Amino acid sequence: MRKKYINKNYLNQEKNKTIDTINKIIKKNIINLIPYKSARLLYKDNNNNNLIALNANECPIISCFSLNKKIFNKYPEPQPKELITLYSKYVNLNIKNILVTRGADEGIDLVMRTFCNQENDKILFCPPTYDMYRVTAQILDVKYITINSNKNWELNLNKIKNNLNNVKIIYICNPNNPTGNYLNKNIIIELLELTKNTSIIVIDEAYIDFCINQTLTYFINKYHNLIILRTLSKAFALAGLRCGFILANEYIINILLKVIAPYPISGPSIDIAIQALNSKNLVIMQNNVKTIINNKKWLIKHLNNCRCVKYIFNSSTNFILVKFYNSDFIFKKLNKKKIIVRNQNNQKNLNNCLRITIGTIFECKKLFFELQKLS
Ligand SMILES: *Cc1c(COP(=O)(O)O)cnc(C)c1O
Repeated sequence: MRKKYINKNYLNQEKNKTIDTINKIIKKNIINLIPYKSARLLYKDNNNNNLIALNANECPIISCFSLNKKIFNKYPEPQPKELITLYSKYVNLNIKNILVTRGADEGIDLVMRTFCNQENDKILFCPPTYDMYRVTAQILDVKYITINSNKNWELNLNKIKNNLNNVKIIYICNPNNPTGNYLNKNIIIELLELTKNTSIIVIDEAYIDFCINQTLTYFINKYHNLIILRTLSKAFALAGLRCGFILANEYIINILLKVIAPYPISGPSIDIAIQALNSKNLVIMQNNVKTIINNKKWLIKHLNNCRCVKYIFNSSTNFILVKFYNSDFIFKKLNKKKIIVRNQNNQKNLNNCLRITIGTIFECKKLFFELQKLS
């Protein structure tokens, strides 16, 4: 008994020594870092079959793929030509304007690592928005400025104008996560003009396939300071693949190529991404988008009849932002019924808001059924 106690004490001392030593070596910004809270980290049993997971903006419609290449002793192509060629047709750009990344998240990081130093450079973004711009800046020890969006979730251009000192990159999420709206094109054009000799504008188009006519890809050749991020994680229903794209002018792409890891995406991912972009699967993706949009219409119509719902924000994406009278209560009650949504209550200007991914029509009905009971 006593021996056990001593051992435990000794082990604790050793553990504290480890913590002290590592904390002395580690970068201060990492000790202070508040990490990104992914849906998977918040709910570890997300893959549980009974769970209705409406918290990660994944596509609920499954496509099945199998690998064509089954041997993996060699490194993959660093920038797979066939994949880039197929994506270039989808976005109507030259292959020289495209870089493949390990998801759009790698794109966020790669651009920041390439354009910002720790001493003076800053990035700017407009909350409420995707949290990875902040997290990446904190990890890379790059300073960040936040300029809150207006009440209608448009960019506050005047305020941005007055805060551009040392700003190397402005991250704009369009359509925006978690609000769901797309931004006024003219305001973005004004911003591109305003910053064309000073800053890079990164437009994160993770959800653009749900409102494809809002894309700004055709501006790549007009504005040399424009970078667009894309992903196969949302509309393409391939979040598990980890495949994204950076679209920019050839000069920027070549610079980013100097910085990116030698083999950013795995052979199996390349194999399946190529299949996902063939003409047959593009039609399937577009039909899935239509289905999701119809489900969204159904859900909005029915949630508007729930007394616990205060307001539903306009959405051009595969999720909706809903303001409740008491979101914590709703969140917990849904949780008990194994329906997981994303709590936004702690985000700026989003009190009592939950972000709900559009699921299958069955999942939408189940959600409505539960919310009706809570009304
Ligand atoms: C989901 C998401 C990403 C991440 O995309 P991956 O390709 O899965 O890394 C990036 N930006 C926004 C706005 C997102 O919602």
